[in-house]
Amino acid sequence: MLRVVLLGRLVKKKMARTVLTDEEKRAKNAAKMRKWRAANPEKARKSSRMWRAANPEKARKSSRIYSRNRRWANIEKSRERERQYYGVNRDRIRAQNKLSYAASPQRQEKAKARHKEWQEANWDKTLQRNREWKAANPSKRYNQNKKHRLANPETYREYARTRIARKKNQEGWIPENCEYLLWVFQEGLCAYCTEVLIEYEVDHKLPLSRGGPHDWSNICLACPSCNRKKSKKTPDEFISLMNAA
Ligand SMILES: [Zn+2]
Repeated sequence: MLRVVLLGRLVKKKMARTVLTDEEKRAKNAAKMRKWRAANPEKARKSSRMWRAANPEKARKSSRIYSRNRRWANIEKSRERERQYYGVNRDRIRAQNKLSYAASPQRQEKAKARHKEWQEANWDKTLQRNREWKAANPSKRYNQNKKHRLANPETYREYARTRIARKKNQEGWIPENCEYLLWVFQEGLCAYCTEVLIEYEVDHKLPLSRGGPHDWSNICLACPSCNRKKSKKTPDEFISLMNAA
C-alpha cells in the first residue's frame, strides 16, 4: 500500500515537472543563471570569456542581439548617442562606407535601384536638384555629357540617325520665322506653365518618338523646365501630370 502511494507521488511529481513549457524552462534556467552570476561575478566573467573563446560565431551573434535589444529599449537615447558619434566621426565613417560600397557590387545595385525609385516618385524634386547642380557646375556638366557620349558612341549615332529619319519621314512645313511667330502667338508665355519665357525651347507637342510630325501644327515654345519634364509625354499626359502635382 505504502509503495503504491509513493509510486503515485513520484508519478505526480514527474508529471508536474513535465508540464513546464520550453519557455518556462528557459526562463527558470535563466533566472537560476542570473542568481548564480550575481553571487559569483568573478567566476561568471571567467566562464563567459571561456565560452566566447570557444564559440566565437555564437558569441558574435549573441552580442549583436544583445546590443540590438539594448538599443531599442532606449531608442531615444541611442539615437542621440549615434548622432553625436556620427558628428565626431563623420569623415571616418563616410570614408569607411565609401570603401565598403566600392567593394560590394550587390550594395551598389541595391542603392541604384533605391535611388531610381526615389527619383521616379519625386521627379519634380529631382529636376529641381538637377537644374541647381547643372547651374552650379557648368564645366562638370559639360564633361559629364562628353564622357557619356564618348563612352556610348553607338547609342549616340543611333539616336541621331533615328531622329533624322523620323524628321524626314514626318517632314511637314515649318515657316522660316516660326519661333518669332510662335512667340507672338503665345504672347511670350510658355505653352504649358504660362510663365513668361526668358529662355525657350521648341517642343514637339506630340513627340516625334510617338509619331508626331515635324510640322508647324505640332510645335510650340516651352520653357526649358517644362520641356525637360514633358520629355516624351503627350500634351494631355503632361498637363494631367502637372495638375496632379
Ligand atoms: Zn513652362
